[in-house]
Amino acid sequence: MSTPLHLELPTLPGELQGLRQEVRRFVAAERVAGRLPYPVKVGLGFSPEASKRIAAQGWIGMTWPKQYGGHERSALERYVVTEELLAAGVPVGAHWISDRQSGPVLLKFGTEAQKLEWLPKIARGEVSFCIGLSEPDSGSDLASLRTSGTRTEGGWRINGTKLWTTNAHRVHCMIALIRTDKADEKNRQAGLTQVLIPLDAKGVTVRPIKSMVGLEDFNEVVFEDVFVPDAHVVGTPGNGWNQVSAELAYERSGPERWLSSFRLLAELVAALGEKPSDAAAMEIGRLLAQLMAVRQISLSIASMLEAGQTPNLEASIAKDIGTRLEQEIVRTVRNIVQAEDLLADADVPALRSLLASAQRYAPAFTIRGGTGEILRGVIARGLGLR
Ligand SMILES: Cc1cc2nc3c(=O)[nH]c(=O)nc-3n(C[C@H](O)[C@H](O)[C@H](O)COP(=O)(O)OP(=O)(O)OC[C@H]3O[C@@H](n4cnc5c(N)ncnc54)[C@H](O)[C@@H]3O)c2cc1C
Repeated sequence: MSTPLHLELPTLPGELQGLRQEVRRFVAAERVAGRLPYPVKVGLGFSPEASKRIAAQGWIGMTWPKQYGGHERSALERYVVTEELLAAGVPVGAHWISDRQSGPVLLKFGTEAQKLEWLPKIARGEVSFCIGLSEPDSGSDLASLRTSGTRTEGGWRINGTKLWTTNAHRVHCMIALIRTDKADEKNRQAGLTQVLIPLDAKGVTVRPIKSMVGLEDFNEVVFEDVFVPDAHVVGTPGNGWNQVSAELAYERSGPERWLSSFRLLAELVAALGEKPSDAAAMEIGRLLAQLMAVRQISLSIASMLEAGQTPNLEASIAKDIGTRLEQEIVRTVRNIVQAEDLLADADVPALRSLLASAQRYAPAFTIRGGTGEILRGVIARGLGLR
């Protein structure tokens, strides 16, 4: 039986080793300079200064055309860079969404003027974006969103509320999905439009929400009669659903979907030292084997993106397996830490605080970017099973 699932398992070409070493030298130099404290919380970390230094290496907008400030390198080169930065716990949050998602959306659907205005600033680490999809009553069922754009002279008036918007309180712009045409029960995905909204625009209120971890990472964003000029419409009015679907593969398949808790594992290995117990070594080996398998899937998707495909089915598989593995890493590390009594009197501050934050953050792994249940529905539909 033929299958609609396309996963080839590429290996990273050997010539990328040089680039990997380059990133490792950068990370080491950052540490020596005292600019890179070891992370004590799971998550990406947020530092506009670090993002500017990463940009100066040519590592933001790596695959974009040079005319838009990019560096015309391959998706696999970008993969190596992001993998190394994440594994080392470098705070990449200030440019993460712009580099991974907003930039590629503008590149694919934006006007020439939008590309020339925004992409070079993103690539220099000067401007950052957030994703405005979820709303108080619309998460999984995104087509039910109610934030509306009403036609006015020269543009649109936006009213409504976005929710859980990561980083909205500290980035410059949002690409929001809004309803610009009446909802049609027979075609609920029609009439949606993507617009670029500078978050300092009149009528925008951003309210941080404290998460269980104690962080203020995401927000409620309220739009009251916010004017968005036609020049800020991204792509074709009414085509927002298709555009958002195209960007989901970027959101769901990257190494951040299985490396969020990697530092925790690294700190555990360091704390166990060179002679871990057999039980701990076996559990760690099992997790690493699974991590390598997920990495292969994620790499395969990077190759497909490079080839211009939209592998949403494959990306859903990567996210579902990757985020469940991340949760398992947190559970397993906790079990080993308890069994080996590692926190009793050892000097392991990073392990202690990473574990504490990971335990409270872990439920979010399988919610953000689409819940596991929704992903498994996408997978079933993609395989023709529903
Ligand atoms: C840390 C974090 C960061 C986030 N950042 C952003 C962001 O930057 N921008 C943004 O737009 N959103 C963001 N989100 C929101 C996230 O995308 C939504 O929380 C997610 O899509 C789920 O939507 P919901 O919270 O409305 O839950 P609901 O859709 O209400 O779902 C509740 C539960 O019901 C289940 N469920 C719902 N429908 C079905 C169905 N048809 N079949 C089976 N089960 C179903 C879900 O799986 C879930 O378990 C973030 C969320 C988190 C946790």
